[in-house]
Amino acid sequence: MADYLVKCCRCRNKHLESERVKKPSNKYGCYGNELVCPRCACTTYYRIEEIKEPQEQNL
Ligand SMILES: [Zn+2]
Repeated sequence: MADYLVKCCRCRNKHLESERVKKPSNKYGCYGNELVCPRCACTTYYRIEEIKEPQEQNL
């Protein structure tokens, strides 16, 4: 699965999307999990770039 380098909109902490912390939320009246910043717990972030696994090229 592709991972993304993301940046928190609040504390501007750069981290991987897979490093974000799952936090229960009941937004919109239903329960679920949302991913929050591991440093400041902000829910807003944006993706900077996709982290691709290195691929060997056999030519
Ligand atoms: Zn943050």
